[in-house]
Amino acid sequence: MTDQVSRRSRSRMMAKMPRAGTRPELRVAAILAAHRVDFTPQVELLLGRGGGRVSVDFFSRKERLAIFVDGCFVHGCTKHKKRALPARWKKKIAATKLRDRQVHDALVSLGWRVLRLPACEIDAGRIAAAIAGARRR
Ligand SMILES: [Zn+2]
Repeated sequence: MTDQVSRRSRSRMMAKMPRAGTRPELRVAAILAAHRVDFTPQVELLLGRGGGRVSVDFFSRKERLAIFVDGCFVHGCTKHKKRALPARWKKKIAATKLRDRQVHDALVSLGWRVLRLPACEIDAGRIAAAIAGARRR
């Protein structure tokens, strides 16, 4: 048996790449495809009682894996946040970070493995580790 992904399933994976995706998202999609993770981009999930909805950037039901690619500015990436910001922006970023934590906890309690990657740090090693962790369960 050959270890190669068939041409057909490769093109199926390629078809799932987010077409209008940003460059970091395309990198994540390529890394997931290389690990043969069957994923869907941009999936809306219900978080259960009062948790509202969340849009997951990369979602794999089979692996029970949710990956988010966070924009540096609005998610308050420590490397790229601006030093001098109007108070309303600081508030918005703080609210986004709180929401990120709530979403993380809600998904973990539902049995999902969650990975958040700042758009400036799409680390293939972290993605591989999350996939391996999800597959070990
Ligand atoms: Zn950044």
